[in-house]
Amino acid sequence: MQDSPTVPNAAGRFGDFGGRYVPETLNPALDQLANEYAQAREDLGFHDHLNDLLQHYVGRPSPLYHAKRLSAECGGAQIFLKREDLNHTGAHKINNTLGQALLTQRMGKTRVIAETGAGQHGVATATACAHFGLPCVVYMGEEDIRRQAPNVYSMKLLGAEVRSVTSGSRTLRDAINEAMRDWMASVKDTHYILGSVVGPHPFPMIVRDFQSVIGRETIEQSNRQFQALPDVVVACVGGGSNAAGMFYPFIESSDVELIGVEAGGRSDQSGDHASPLTYGKPGVLHGSYSYVMQDEDGQTCDVHSISAGLDYPGVGPEHSYWKATERVRYDCCRDQDALQGFDALAKTEGILAAIETSHAVWVAMQIAKERPKEQRVVVCLSGRGDKDTAEIARLRGEDGSSGNGT
Ligand SMILES: *Cc1c(COP(=O)(O)O)cnc(C)c1O
Repeated sequence: MQDSPTVPNAAGRFGDFGGRYVPETLNPALDQLANEYAQAREDLGFHDHLNDLLQHYVGRPSPLYHAKRLSAECGGAQIFLKREDLNHTGAHKINNTLGQALLTQRMGKTRVIAETGAGQHGVATATACAHFGLPCVVYMGEEDIRRQAPNVYSMKLLGAEVRSVTSGSRTLRDAINEAMRDWMASVKDTHYILGSVVGPHPFPMIVRDFQSVIGRETIEQSNRQFQALPDVVVACVGGGSNAAGMFYPFIESSDVELIGVEAGGRSDQSGDHASPLTYGKPGVLHGSYSYVMQDEDGQTCDVHSISAGLDYPGVGPEHSYWKATERVRYDCCRDQDALQGFDALAKTEGILAAIETSHAVWVAMQIAKERPKEQRVVVCLSGRGDKDTAEIARLRGEDGSSGNGT
């Protein structure tokens, strides 16, 4: 794992962003986590164990695939897909949950809690906990439980307990609040496996480092497959973990354009999208200072996205830092455009992407259209879309269970 060059500093600050805004009771647990991680990072045995799991259990390295028919359809630059959808459990989330489950064991903790939006982090956490024999409770908003039923059942099959969260908007943000509440009461024996580069220090740094395997592999594969770095790298941004893991190893390579894609929802009106970097302003949410969707009184707004995994009013503090330093450009993609990205990838390449991922696919297609054929655009294909087919059918008024009646 490579060391972070300058950020975050010892207080967990990425420039103005990040930090730790939590009740006193959580500070000892966060300090313990930071210390344990600092030791693990220097421990070859830890890296060997994690790398062995990533190779033999997750199936890494994930391929970097040249999407030739999708590229031809766009008529411009070549599109490559970094296939995180092929990981065990179908998304990038497992890279982080295995790392944090190892840290849980090192800290001598015996119980794990997690939050989940799309259910992907819940499944990845339940999977890691089954692998290590750790009991696991997953908090999930009632609305997300409805949208992501297959993942809910998978978590149960994996031995996790799923607790329905009925407060607020009944989505990811409320699930994080409930998980934090549990943690305050259980912190002695429980580790909270946070699922994205959000929350109080040291979570944004730890999750970024565990996900950075995505960007490191992409650099190696680009050099081997086309003897150059990509011209553009695109990833979708919910909390921002797949994007941070993809971007971080490229940060010093200033010739590589980095583009994060937020959920543009139905319109640019507040409440209709989930694009804090595009339309929000800095504030505190879930223990760190970053861009947040908020009203004039500083209250966190409700947000909307077609995809449960992007339906979050905040974003990881390092993304706010990259926006402020202009290293990464942030764009957003509307619900309907994401569905077009989904369709294009399915029909030209035979790949069903997650709806979250489809936001990045659509933006990558628009970029490819404007660029010469010699350029290369890499998309982080963060997850597979099997979990979304029923919801897409519902949105289109079709019966997703019966296919074409064959
Ligand atoms: C969870 C998820 C996301 C959003 O989370 P990030 O932390 O922003 O990566 C994106 N894509 C997929 C497939 C997911 O499961």
